Amino acid sequence: MLQRVRRDLRKARDAGYKVGIVDAFGKSSTSGIVSISTRIDNLGLPLEAMEAWDVKPTEYFVLLLHFEKSYDPLERVVTSQAATHPEIKFCVGKCNKFKPLPTQAFYAFTGLHYPPGEEDPEPEANTSSHPNTKFEKLFISSSLDQFMCDSFVPLLKIRENEGLDWDNANEILRVKLGLSGDNQQRPDSHVASTRDYDLGPDHVKDVADERSLPLVAMQVATRYFVKCTEYCLRCHRRLDKELEALRPYVCTDPLSVAS
Ligand SMILES: [Zn+2]
Repeated sequence: MLQRVRRDLRKARDAGYKVGIVDAFGKSSTSGIVSISTRIDNLGLPLEAMEAWDVKPTEYFVLLLHFEKSYDPLERVVTSQAATHPEIKFCVGKCNKFKPLPTQAFYAFTGLHYPPGEEDPEPEANTSSHPNTKFEKLFISSSLDQFMCDSFVPLLKIRENEGLDWDNANEILRVKLGLSGDNQQRPDSHVASTRDYDLGPDHVKDVADERSLPLVAMQVATRYFVKCTEYCLRCHRRLDKELEALRPYVCTDPLSVAS
């Protein structure tokens, strides 16, 4: 399985991301944490967005994937019977290195904070190779983490089975969960974005080859991060107004407003 983890990470690296195994995946362990990241200045964000979102061009946008039981390749995840996949947890943040230290990743997933006065949990690792590594939440972390943990696997299954894009898969998922009526008119997801980001070829469609779950997850996380002002923070559906907002907001759907 470690071979497969490495192959999947190599695919993410070939797609232009920085990859790393943060924890475990040792000889006897198939559980662990991987990190996929990209430097903020690769994302093509406008300066005012970077300022509003408190990210610097030299920092990294990082997605951590925690495989709590064992690493599951994409083809097994999409065919699994479980509605969700409780063994994969996601966490997004920013870091001044392409991957955080294991302890920082652990703190990120447990939601714990560093004990006061212990800003650096691994001083011995703070050598020249890891100067002042810090993994921090983004303003959108709680919304995006929850979306990834709850919806990524169900959305991937819907995409796989029905050949939809992420936005339309989300519509189907909302209906399945009883969170919106199936006749509800939503804005056409093919409406041009206010800004076009180059997110690379859609890896879900690479059906001819073995596909990498970490790469697909990173494409989703990056997409919802760079386009966060175009989507509702709660239901993650495209907002129907083309507002020139700098901060994401919540749509007028009663369920989004109430939650
Ligand atoms: Zn909403």
